[in-house]
Amino acid sequence: MNLRGVGVSPGIGHGPSYVMSASVPEPPEGATYTGEAEQEKERAMAALTRVAGELEARGNQAGGEAAEILKAQALMAEDPGLVVKVRSLIDRGLAAPRAVFEAFTRYREMLAGSGGFLGERAADVADIRDRVVALLYGHSMPVVPAAPAEPYVLVARDLAPADTALLSREQVAAFVTEEGGPTSHTAIIARAMGVPAVVACPGATGIPPGVRVMVDGSTGEVRLEPADADVADAAAAATARQAALASWQGPGATADGHEVPLLANVGGPGELADAVGAGAEGIGLYRTEFLFLGRSEAPAEEEQREAYRAALEAFPGGTVVVRTLDVGADKPLAFLPVPAEPNPALGERGLRRSRKFPEVMEAQLGALAAVASERLQVMAPMVATAEEAAWFARTCRAKGLGEAGVMIEIPSAALRAADLLAAVDFVSIGTNDLSQYAFAADRGLSAMSALHDPWQPALLGLVAMATGAARQAGKPCGICGEAAADPALACVFVGLGASTLSMAPSALAAVRAGLGAHTLEQCRQAARAAREQDTAADARAAAREHLPELDRLGL
Ligand code: PEP
Ligand code: MG
Repeated sequence: MNLRGVGVSPGIGHGPSYVMSASVPEPPEGATYTGEAEQEKERAMAALTRVAGELEARGNQAGGEAAEILKAQALMAEDPGLVVKVRSLIDRGLAAPRAVFEAFTRYREMLAGSGGFLGERAADVADIRDRVVALLYGHSMPVVPAAPAEPYVLVARDLAPADTALLSREQVAAFVTEEGGPTSHTAIIARAMGVPAVVACPGATGIPPGVRVMVDGSTGEVRLEPADADVADAAAAATARQAALASWQGPGATADGHEVPLLANVGGPGELADAVGAGAEGIGLYRTEFLFLGRSEAPAEEEQREAYRAALEAFPGGTVVVRTLDVGADKPLAFLPVPAEPNPALGERGLRRSRKFPEVMEAQLGALAAVASERLQVMAPMVATAEEAAWFARTCRAKGLGEAGVMIEIPSAALRAADLLAAVDFVSIGTNDLSQYAFAADRGLSAMSALHDPWQPALLGLVAMATGAARQAGKPCGICGEAAADPALACVFVGLGASTLSMAPSALAAVRAGLGAHTLEQCRQAARAAREQDTAADARAAAREHLPELDRLGL
């Protein structure tokens, strides 16, 4: 039997499966307590504090990136908004375990529904909930074997940093999770450990315990009971591919020297090391809403300043593009309440929300201005009109911020890119939302995946409009949606005139190699050929004909 998910940490891992069960039982619905409400609240608070302390201690023991991640998770356990919720549920008569269960489950569901970065924090919230509930009941948490006879393939619905932080390559051959995404903590920790991992793998938890499993962390393939020869072949091929990719170093450029800085998409200070390690030349998209996750109040200017300073320091000499808060729809933030809207994706989100709460954006721009350098660029999300772009640019300049840009992720912005460019210094195309709005297809709905295919000719057409307008205006146009992570599409975007490409750090090596193996003229031919096609599949095939080295590189 073969399964397929998303490969997020490259390499071949092979070993017996260890399937981790989710064994913390749900506290009965409506469970009440007998004593005083205050005592029950103290019991809940003590358990939350203890779990936060344990997570932090585990992080300190693990060190490195895991320490940062577990520290953030520990903070989430004592999140003021969640604490208030737990206390009020206890006031309403629910026993401490049930109150914790309900408060954290609701928050988990809200995050899971939002997809993307925030969605991938859902597992962290569920993990805290289960730990606190287990503690209140006196149960123990499921543990993974510490000293196995041979490294195992750890299979789970999802994994929390606390599960993985203390594991080592001697224990684990690979990770496979049914849920999670490329920016989930399983993915981040797996990459940091150098252990192959596949996430978002339907059917993973149905893998029988103890069967031999081979995991390809590049292609996302999970094979059960493979032949020994197949394992040897796959491992040899993966090693050769890794070596080929690793031999492409240095700044992003085509084979004939046309420079295209390759930048990273990041969501917080904990991701900077990963981006630097992957050879990013700067940051093309800092999703700052991620810094504010789970807060009931906006973070202080000082804290924001530190985060932005850390980003600039991580890339001495590199550009850092910080996006102002992109709140609403799939990215809810507690301190900027969203009105009840029938279609939140079409509602008051992104820059529209920032105009409604100018004090929050003022504070953010103030923090950015305090660390401003020539390398810092600020951009606004979800901009629909030239008037909005001009307002944003004026607001930035009034704060002393020199480089102001906007994202092109609404079709109206692509159609009128020339007008937007007249008001700002640069634009950056967000292919994720641009595709959602161009095709009227919710980006979180996997049933719409054919329409989300970034090779769709209509999407390529919108991208070409924006890059064409930027060329005319003599201003930069970057691409920062997930589409830039596809090495072939990255070449097409360069052929269309993209000046920078920004992506998840894990994609940088493949894009650097793919671009470096082709000339600018080949990229242009690939773009022209793709644009002449009627379907996404034909566009991909036509472009690849002009990018012959991709196959040789195994991309
Ligand atoms: C996009 O929409 O393409 C984008 C880069 O922004 P986000 O994924 O954060 O919405
Ligand atoms: Mg977007």
